[in-house]
Amino acid sequence: MKKLLMYLLVSGACYGAMAQEESEQSDTSWKKMYRESAPKINDLVHTKLDAKFDYNKAYLNGKVWITLKPHFYSTDSLQLDAKGMTIQKVALSKGSATSPLKFEYDGMVLDIKLNKTYKAEEEYTIYIEYIAKPDEYTGKGSAAITDAKGLYFINPRGEEKDKPTQLWTQGETEGTSVWVPTIDRPNQKSTNEFSMTVPDKYVTLSNGKLTGQKKNADGTRTDTWKMELPHAPYLFFMGAGEFAVVKDSYKGKEVSYYVEKEYGPVARKIFGNTPEMMAFFSKLLGVEYPWAKYSQMVGRDFVSGAMENTTATLHQESAQQDARELIDGNSWEGTIAHELFHHWFGDLVTSESWSNLTVNESFANYSQVLWQEHKY
Ligand SMILES: [Zn+2]
Repeated sequence: MKKLLMYLLVSGACYGAMAQEESEQSDTSWKKMYRESAPKINDLVHTKLDAKFDYNKAYLNGKVWITLKPHFYSTDSLQLDAKGMTIQKVALSKGSATSPLKFEYDGMVLDIKLNKTYKAEEEYTIYIEYIAKPDEYTGKGSAAITDAKGLYFINPRGEEKDKPTQLWTQGETEGTSVWVPTIDRPNQKSTNEFSMTVPDKYVTLSNGKLTGQKKNADGTRTDTWKMELPHAPYLFFMGAGEFAVVKDSYKGKEVSYYVEKEYGPVARKIFGNTPEMMAFFSKLLGVEYPWAKYSQMVGRDFVSGAMENTTATLHQESAQQDARELIDGNSWEGTIAHELFHHWFGDLVTSESWSNLTVNESFANYSQVLWQEHKY
């Protein structure tokens, strides 16, 4: 994550920065509390989501299959974070059959009674049908991320002139559980497969590789993205809109830039050093870039500076600079290095609790200097 605060200071928007500092000063609870690792009762294994977006209501109609296993002790129950949702069905999934399970839901946590006691390492799959209603969820954000509703519909009904219709997600810290039930803690990791159904004119982006595209009779299209290496739920990502997609590559892996169409011709001037950065950081760290691809998207009205969703970084719109601005240099290059470096420190090796987040951010900040020294 790249703090919005940093951007505000750099751009001289001091009022916003001071307001944020004041709110940080008034909330001192973080000084007294060490957020230790969350207890592990069940472990995430795999998350398979079928997401259909209702732009008119700004809802996500979801069907999710979550595979889990007890972490150590046997257990007959499962608690999932699921914030502000309508839960329609909870069942045990076995092959193509499902059998209903008893559950309680208080609007924040879904408490499921399993069909039996499961032993450590014994996997089971839960099926949930739900509606996510991010615009109706009222959770608070933080100093670095100004909101916490997880899923953002930008101009969903096309009412704002001159603004594109987009959607994107922001998980960090625990916003993912506003749009998909999960164990929303940084000490959990899951592989995932997300299917997104959107109007056919939009392109989509999610974690991992695009494995399928299917046109539907109602003018929508379903794209399926598959992430084969486990990562933490706060790094789950979905994005969609009308974008130009400019493609480079690094050692046979796709490196792509999703920008608004008018910025297509300059996308490489903004993001084009990414493959060289991947080579430099891989060599410097002695650990080859581990993920299947690397994409970067620029989203409107983003609630932070940029976010290192695994293989699918989202940047705020300041990343988009026109040809005239770029004559003076690329003001976003440090942030591009920062988010890429998180793919080692944050995404591959992950802080077990939010109290250790400074480790992620310190390494990512340091990478900006390393890149500058190497390149210039
Ligand atoms: Zn960061």
